[in-house]
Amino acid sequence: MKNLTSHYLLNGVFPWSIDNELNQAKQMICIAEKESVRERQLQQALKNSEQRYALATKVTNDGLWEWNFDSNQVNYSSRWKSMLGYDDDSIKNSPVEWLARVHGADIEKLRANLSACWQGEITQFEVEYSLLHRDGKYRSMFCKGVGVRDEKGNITSLVGSQTDITHNKKIEARLNYDNNYDRLTHLPNRQLFIQNLKELSQIKSESKCLFGVLCLDLDSFKYINRNFGHAIGDLLLIEIVAKLNSCLRSQDIVARIGGDEFAILLAGFKQANYPSEIATQIQREFSVPIKVKEHSILITTSIGIAPLTTIGNHEQQNTPYSLIESLQNAEIAMHQAKDKGKACSVVFESEAYLESIAKFKSENELRAAIELEQFELYYQPIVKLADRQLIGFEALIRWQHPEKGLVSPGGFIPLAENTGLIVPIGWWVLRAACQQMATWQQEHPESELTFISVNVASKQFSQPYAGDIIAQILAETGLNPCCLKLEITESEIIENIDIVLSTATKLKELGVQLSMDDFGTGYSSLGYLHCLPVDTLKIDRSFVKNIEDNIHQLELVKTIVKLAGVFDLDIVAEGIEREEQCTQLLNLQCEYGQGYLFSKPLPSANATNLLV
Ligand code: C2E
Ligand code: MG
Ligand code: MG
Repeated sequence: MKNLTSHYLLNGVFPWSIDNELNQAKQMICIAEKESVRERQLQQALKNSEQRYALATKVTNDGLWEWNFDSNQVNYSSRWKSMLGYDDDSIKNSPVEWLARVHGADIEKLRANLSACWQGEITQFEVEYSLLHRDGKYRSMFCKGVGVRDEKGNITSLVGSQTDITHNKKIEARLNYDNNYDRLTHLPNRQLFIQNLKELSQIKSESKCLFGVLCLDLDSFKYINRNFGHAIGDLLLIEIVAKLNSCLRSQDIVARIGGDEFAILLAGFKQANYPSEIATQIQREFSVPIKVKEHSILITTSIGIAPLTTIGNHEQQNTPYSLIESLQNAEIAMHQAKDKGKACSVVFESEAYLESIAKFKSENELRAAIELEQFELYYQPIVKLADRQLIGFEALIRWQHPEKGLVSPGGFIPLAENTGLIVPIGWWVLRAACQQMATWQQEHPESELTFISVNVASKQFSQPYAGDIIAQILAETGLNPCCLKLEITESEIIENIDIVLSTATKLKELGVQLSMDDFGTGYSSLGYLHCLPVDTLKIDRSFVKNIEDNIHQLELVKTIVKLAGVFDLDIVAEGIEREEQCTQLLNLQCEYGQGYLFSKPLPSANATNLLV
């Protein structure tokens, strides 16, 4: 019997019986015949049970079914039949009525579940399938079933319900579409594109086929929207998608991953230059105007090309990046194409990427350093060469980096200048240095210390209110303006001569001194010397370096000293490391100096020790 039923199940023929509760009630009636006292109660129980069953089948929106293996008949509830557009009499009790209507793509799934439940491999099942309606269209059904056993444990029937989920399926399909596709172009969106890449990456493949990802951004698309309106913009996008598709093979995938950004997966090719060729072809397509209604619109595109990759074990196949990384790489390369001036294609280069990442990281660290007050000032003595008497200090910034330790200005000042962070850093330096100088003067009034030198970057100096800021810092720290010397470099003076002149004039009025740093290294600013209110020239250490044995250097320093004499300027020689250099400079009438021979830049406590 079991085998026969199994045969029926697998071949699509059916048995049937009645509701379990009803059966139990019937058995109870047999016993009640012998027990007349309880007979009426049991009759009532049966009646109640039957009424409940009838009511349940009536009110439930689900169709009910029971397949009895003894009779090989299926009892379908009225609702089960009406769900398919039939009345009670139109569908008989044959299993064929059910199975013959199941969509061909789903029949095996349903049979496997029915069979497994009947065999006892599972106690219940849930399955979705499409069922043919009387109107000739399929409805989506959700079917639940459970095995019913007799007291010996043998399976007697399968019972279950069936729910029409066509409406839910439609909503689900729409949601699925909205989540994964772009409504305008009907292309996959970023999420689905990434999903596709992930799925492709999972495929175990030993094939030598290559994969490539391009990222394409339309240049200045917002102007198209602004000039022609969004409706034309939308139509243009549709035309562009058609153009892109015309350049690709059927297995390649285009996705719209942003408003005006597309990603292209070039799937499985053999020629390594295929992505570049496709990029060239796309650029060619974009070189002619695109017709949209009465408009002829020329739009360019920037394309980023990721390095080639493979699927499966890409390490074994010597490609450094996975498919997912390829999308990121293509996007980075696309931004590089934008930086290059747009309307071009760029292949991702890892060095450029690593450089930009490192720069980004350092910039963030530098920003945080300001907040966290990780900067510190060191002070290098400036002495009178004749008797080596300390007359001033140059304040030099250091960065107490949490991982790298003490970082010299060369390690972060260029970045600070590029990013503009030099401005807040510079004002912090000025305030700290003025504060320190004021403290020294208060605590060591007997010392010969007459000034503090502070380096000021051109970006600081060219701020419109630089003079006011400096005046305010002096007022706040209580430092006498004539004890402050600001060092600016030659090249900075040339670059912003007008602003430098006006700020310098204002500072002169305050009594602040000005020093021209690294003199001789930049452009020749001799011409400006007469109009700039400079007090000091600092001879760059590159001239001092070979002063003993390089006659040209010696002559140059001699000239600078003479020049300073003409303009009545002080001279400070930088980078004096040896006695011979000091002697030479003294012979040349250079009055002041600074260098390792006297002292390296010192932390403030050590600098303070020099005052006592
Ligand atoms: P600079 O203003 O010309 O400062 C002199 C530099 O020469 C200092 O380097 C100093 O340590 C170094 N030096 C002094 N004597 C000797 C010597 O005998 N031999 C050698 N080899 N070097 C010597 P440092 O501290 O590394 O500063 C480098 C540059 O960074 C400074 O050159 C200045 O242009 C800039 N800088 C330092 N602090 C600041 C700051 O607070 N603001 C701005 N904008 N720039 C700063
Ligand atoms: Mg300096
Ligand atoms: Mg210098």
